[in-house]
Amino acid sequence: MSTVTAVMWFRRDLRLSDNPALLDAAAHGRVLGLFVVDPLLWGRSGDPRRDQLAASLRSLSESMGGRLVVRRGDPAAVVPAIADELGAASVHVSADYAPYGQQRDEEVEASLKCPLVRTGSPYAVAPGRVLNQQGRSYQVFTPYFKAWLAHGWRQPVEAPSRVRWIKADSEDLPDSSLVAGEQAALDRWRDYEVSAYDDERDRADLDSTSRMSIPLKYGEIHPRTMLADLARKRSAGAEAYRRELAWREFCADLLARHPHAAWKPLRPEFDRMRYDEPGELLDAWQEGRTGFPFVDAGMRQLAETGFTHNRVRMVVASFLVKDLHVHWKFGARWFMRTLRDGDLASNSLNWQWVAGCGADAAPYFRIFNPVSQGLKFDPDGAYVRRWIPELRDLDGRTAHEPWKHGGADGYPEPVVDHAEARTEALRRYDAIRS
Ligand code: FAD
Repeated sequence: MSTVTAVMWFRRDLRLSDNPALLDAAAHGRVLGLFVVDPLLWGRSGDPRRDQLAASLRSLSESMGGRLVVRRGDPAAVVPAIADELGAASVHVSADYAPYGQQRDEEVEASLKCPLVRTGSPYAVAPGRVLNQQGRSYQVFTPYFKAWLAHGWRQPVEAPSRVRWIKADSEDLPDSSLVAGEQAALDRWRDYEVSAYDDERDRADLDSTSRMSIPLKYGEIHPRTMLADLARKRSAGAEAYRRELAWREFCADLLARHPHAAWKPLRPEFDRMRYDEPGELLDAWQEGRTGFPFVDAGMRQLAETGFTHNRVRMVVASFLVKDLHVHWKFGARWFMRTLRDGDLASNSLNWQWVAGCGADAAPYFRIFNPVSQGLKFDPDGAYVRRWIPELRDLDGRTAHEPWKHGGADGYPEPVVDHAEARTEALRRYDAIRS
């Protein structure tokens, strides 16, 4: 029996099935399954993400018979030390394409005495692989999507039939009372009814989207597994869903190629855009006290649960940037603190899309009206009443415009006049174009 040992360093791939890096590690011999709590990333995450990660790690460890080894510290020191202790022949990871992750992996690689083997990634098609005929990458989603489909991806792989996990000292796993992990992710996915997705996905009141962004973020499921299931379904809903998964990959592709886009505009002319200093209006937005029910409901849902719907994310983001004239990076930072699915690539590139400074961005002059968006995507006001108790007594659609119906006790007046704010946003946009 082989006594060769390998380290499987888990990061954003907290699962055993459809995990080619783990298959590779297990093929070498005995495996030490490692997770490093990196103080830098841990410090940057808000409580919702820490909680979610802790739950996911607990579940992973359980599925490994309690053998997950957790260490705290700088990965550039921790990973080589443990590999040395074991005399490991290799360290296996699935590749990370985010700016910090790439730099961290290079540092780890430089300090290791054995190879760092990158197999697979958290994406069906790894960033940088989808290229046009001139060998260049895409800036616009639709051609990217076509090329992504044409590129294709491998079929999901099974979990290794048996892994000989090595036991080693581990620090305690962080506490969490959430239900998470690979089995929960698969159950959620297999129970999800995708057929009506294309019709209903924009409705905030129906809660009809999959909420798979959280398991995807932690790699409790791989998108390949989902794409294989979608291919069997062949409905308009399944097609629409596949397109959204491609958006996730497009965002990762953009960030890998333009690391500055994490916090700076992708389109350089937006460096000149004039924003206001964030002050009380940013506080009102974060706390759901802007006086615009659809915006406030979304921000309160986010604060209370760590999640909000995509349509709502677009409207609250547009409101911060184009009604309150606050730089998108303040909103993106708040989202990264509060979202359970907070993901640098999807978050920053979607904020930039809304703010007009990203790839394929919506034209700047298309400014969401927070009231008509609410009326359209929460037509009976059920969503805003669910999250804003002060509006409970306002019937149906009236809940979207309390000021027209005598107001609501304890609920603020609108903090801005939308029409004026819109004109001002357009004026500032004209200034950077001229
Ligand atoms: P579903 O509608 O069920 O979609 C299925 C999957 O497709 C999602 O789980 C997600 O992986 C992917 N997806 C859907 N829409 C998008 C999109 N616009 N961009 C990228 N991937 C998408 N998503 C994150 O995962 N993390 C973030 O930090 C994040 N920040 C965002 C910030 C803003 C301002 C906006 C407008 C969107 C953001 N999104 C982010 C994208 C999207 O809102 C969420 O992925 C989606 O709401 C998650 O809910 P769901 O899983 O029920 O989505």
